[in-house]
This record gives sequence, C-alpha cells and structure tokens, in this order.
Amino acid sequence: MPNKNYSNKTNSKIKNTAKKTVKKVVKKSPVLAIVLAIILIAVIIGGYFVYVNYIKKQDEPTAVSGELSFHFMSLGNKYNGDCIYVKAGDNDILIDGGSRASSLPTVKQYLSEYMGEDKTIEYLIVTHADEDHIAMLGAENGILDYYECKTIIDFAISNKTTQVYNRYLAKRDIEVENGAQHFTALQCVNNEGDAKKVYQLTDSVKMEILNNYYYSNSSTDENNYSVCTLFTHGDRNFLFTGDLEKDGEQKLVELNNLPQVELFKAGHHGSKTSSNEVLLSVIKPKICVVSCTTGTNEYTDNIKNQFPTQDFINRISKYTDKVYVTSVGKDDIMENKDELFSMNGDVVVISAENEVKVSCSESDTLLKDTAWFKEYRDTPIYWQ
Ligand SMILES: [Zn+2]
Repeated sequence: MPNKNYSNKTNSKIKNTAKKTVKKVVKKSPVLAIVLAIILIAVIIGGYFVYVNYIKKQDEPTAVSGELSFHFMSLGNKYNGDCIYVKAGDNDILIDGGSRASSLPTVKQYLSEYMGEDKTIEYLIVTHADEDHIAMLGAENGILDYYECKTIIDFAISNKTTQVYNRYLAKRDIEVENGAQHFTALQCVNNEGDAKKVYQLTDSVKMEILNNYYYSNSSTDENNYSVCTLFTHGDRNFLFTGDLEKDGEQKLVELNNLPQVELFKAGHHGSKTSSNEVLLSVIKPKICVVSCTTGTNEYTDNIKNQFPTQDFINRISKYTDKVYVTSVGKDDIMENKDELFSMNGDVVVISAENEVKVSCSESDTLLKDTAWFKEYRDTPIYWQ
C-alpha cells in the first residue's frame, strides 16, 4: 500500500511550491503576471465558447425555428408524376419535374405564388430518369429555361435511352454551362469535391442526401436509382424516396440510420411494390402524401393496382390514417367520362414552430373518407 501520509505531504509540498512560484512571479514581474492572467481568462472564455457552440450543439437536436413547407403539386392532367416544391427560409427547392410538358403553366403559376419575381431555384433534385419525373425539365420553355438553378443533384445511374431522358440531359448541361453546380447523389454521399451529403438550409433545417445501394450498383428497375432525401427541421424528419422499390427500401434501411418521420412521400405514387413494411416499420410515418392521379388506367386496368393501390393502403394503414392524395384524376375508368374529379388537390405540409399541419387546395378529406375510397377500396382493419 502507498504511504498516505507521504503522498499528502508531497501534495502540500507541490502546492506550496506553486504558491511560492506565483508569488515570486507577481513580485518580480507584475506585468508578466497580468499577461498570464489575461491569457488564462481568454483560454477559459474561448473553451466555453467552443463547448457551447460546437460540442454541446452536436449533442442536442436543433430547436425548431422558422417554417419549412412541402408542396405536393397537383399537375393539372390525368398523368401520374412527381413535382414537389420545398420552401426552407430563402431556399426554393424542387424535387422532380412532373410527367408532361403540359403541366408547365400549372407549375409555373403555383411557384410564382411562393417565389414571386425570384426566378432562382437553389436546389433541383432529380430523383430518376422516368418520364413522370423529368418531363418538364427537358421541355422547351421548360423549368430549366424559365428558372436559374444553382445546384442540381440527380441520379448516379440510368438505363434510359429515351428522348425525354436525352432532352433532360441536354437542358441540364446547358444549365451547368451557365453556372449551375451539378452533382450526382453518389458524389453528395461521398462529399466528393464541392458536393455535400448534408446541406444546412437554415438555422434549423437540413437536407441530407441519403445513401442508396443503387447509386453505385445497377438494377433492372430504373426506380431503384431514385435519389433519396431526408429533411430535418429541429427534431422533425421528412422523407422522400422517389419511386424506390422494395430492394432499394431494404438497402436504404440497412445503409442509413433512418429516424421516425413526420412525413413520408408515398414511394412510387402508392404502387403495390413500394412503401414496404421493411421501411415503414422503421420510419413510422405520421403523415403520408401520395403524388398520383387517383384510379387512372395509365399503368394498369386492374382497379386494385391503380394508384393508390390496395396493397399500399393496407400497409400504410398500420401507421397512420393521415393519407392524402394529390390529384385530379380522369374519371374514365369508373364512369367512362372525361370529367375531372378532385382528391386533395395541392397538398401542403407545413412544419411551423409549434406544429406540423396539412393544408389542401381542394379539400382536407383523408383518403379513407373520400367517395372514391369507399367505392373502390376495401377498408383495412386498422382504419375500421
Ligand atoms: Zn414515378
């Protein structure tokens, strides 16, 4: 055992020596003592500043401040497609460019309400190369002609050779020649060059490009190449997975530490092959918005598999009944007539300081309470 008395004596000796040294310094050179004291105080204040601003902040979720809004636009025609506007402070963000060039007037009018004379889109995210996501981007007098894009983030791989795809590439490259930054999602995930995985949009809003296995591995399904994005507002999360299919969702869960989310954009327009339990059981969405035209035969005549499909509804119902469907669909399947009918219209999800709320242009009716649902879908047990 160490001699306790000896160690106490040693400690007090050291303390005494230190005191004596300080006294000597103060006596001999008061200026040096003052300088040392100032340095000591500066180090303490500096350390506290670093702790509060960097170390402590990393541990705590950022407080919710300001407003973040997601606008799922109804595209004004009978075709399914995604075109989602996101407003975060001064940042105007567009995810995808819809299904047909004919949606341009609708979309330009909508954006002008929020952007006014500002013709700059800070971030354009292009999830994948299917027509229903890029049509307005490659169009003449389209979005890339009308707006200046600062940063374009798009898919790393495509199997496409279509004209629509080539038109998109041509317009994108002109935008880059005119000064836009262009990164693939893979470059973002790898923080390659100026590309970033996480973009801090405001004090409390971040946009993260999630890792997707199919950014660097080929798939026979174009949908799996979808760029996946997570927005966070303080401790709230909002997930966009484009048209990612089941394999992609499985890998997304494995590769990312996904949180529970306030909002999930239904995968692939509410198709039966996306929004699977493997993903839903992790993200447990509170609100789900389906961007599609309800019940059209664009992809299938099987009514149960028309968007939003019965299988999708069965799966999402376990987590929430706050399911909204954008679109104006063409009622040609059900009654063989050309009249348009409305679901929710433009669906806007607003993350304000105190709450997350939903506001729709046509009606705020939940999918389960719509006349279309009651006629064409079976009510899942969770909604009974
Ligand atoms: Zn699609």
